[in-house]
Amino acid sequence: ARGASLTDFAEKINVEPAQLVQMLFGLGEMVTATESVNDETLELLGEELNYVVQVVSPEDEDRELLESFDIELGDEGDESDWSVRPPVVTVMGHVDHGKTKLLDAIRDANVIEGEAGGITQHIGAYQVATQVDGEERKITFIDTPGHEAFTAMRARGSQSSDLAVLVVAADDGVMPQTIEALNHAKAAGVPIVVAINKIDKPEADPTKIRGQLTEYGVIPEEYGGDTMFVEISAKSRINIEGLLEAVVLTADASLDLQANASQDAQGIVIEAHLDRGRGPVATILVQRGTLRVGESIVAGPAHGRVRAMIDEYGHEITEATPSRPAMVLGLSAVPGAGQSFLVVEDDRMARQIAEKREARERAAQQAKRRVRRTLEDFMAS
Ligand code: GDP
Ligand code: MG
Repeated sequence: ARGASLTDFAEKINVEPAQLVQMLFGLGEMVTATESVNDETLELLGEELNYVVQVVSPEDEDRELLESFDIELGDEGDESDWSVRPPVVTVMGHVDHGKTKLLDAIRDANVIEGEAGGITQHIGAYQVATQVDGEERKITFIDTPGHEAFTAMRARGSQSSDLAVLVVAADDGVMPQTIEALNHAKAAGVPIVVAINKIDKPEADPTKIRGQLTEYGVIPEEYGGDTMFVEISAKSRINIEGLLEAVVLTADASLDLQANASQDAQGIVIEAHLDRGRGPVATILVQRGTLRVGESIVAGPAHGRVRAMIDEYGHEITEATPSRPAMVLGLSAVPGAGQSFLVVEDDRMARQIAEKREARERAAQQAKRRVRRTLEDFMAS
């Protein structure tokens, strides 16, 4: 138990903060909703609400569950087995500054060699290639509609991307969501590349953007800083290659992206839905290890055996290595965006873990309902 603000606590147990304030008042404690209360007060509230207050994060709880199956999340194996993996990139920025257009432009322009048909499937993420210093380098872009998955992942504290492209429209400049995106990147500790977009417009003023971002501590390389700024037009497809090169160079300069491809796969769910014909379908991103068709996996409260994997080119693939997104068929249910997935020994273990997670989720929901009822009784009395 670590104490929390009443607002946070109320949100956790799904009640109005005002109700808790009133309840505490009734118990002789004067606290405002935004005030932080100590553990004893939380426990007092809990007792009153007939609720066992256990201030444990869901992540810790899940880690414990997995440990009981001898599984360690995030285990990277032996360093001698590590190899370079492509960067995973999110595109962020203010609304209408061109994020979707940019993701379209990259998708259309940079298919991986030998993939004649181009990227045909929207699976929530895709991999492209670019030439840097005569070498083919791959990059994975998270490409979810409205980026709900990204928000969900952030809320779950799971790190989905290594690097962020911050899109700023050159005719508009730094806006509130630009700053918000910047803060998210900072909080997550991911480096950024700034894409100054819409330079095809006559009123575009890239110098102004450089100046504005400098004020927020994002200093362009050409001003002696360490952030690459690239002028592009997503619509007119100007300098998309330059942006991809900047992504690779920034990743090389500030990240040491390696993963062990020879262990059991672990990663994250990018998005998932129920398909009429195929059942639950989940796009996963492999973060370590190699995922293979036929393996038993558990993804959030879903489990199953990988029946098939389909990539963004519409091809069936038999394995997925680190940083590769793939659509997975064969799960028992639809997992949530941002939830982790991992390969386990066999179907039995996958089912057991999934069932335990489900039971825990059910218990939490019941407890919430119980609290709500107790509160309602309390307010009525
Ligand atoms: P998002 O909200 O950040 O995803 O922005 P969109 O990609 O939907 O783009 C918003 C609007 O800006 C659309 O009308 C695009 O056609 C337009 N747009 C995007 N990129 C460019 C560009 O490079 N030049 C011009 N002139 N318009 C662009
Ligand atoms: Mg958009």
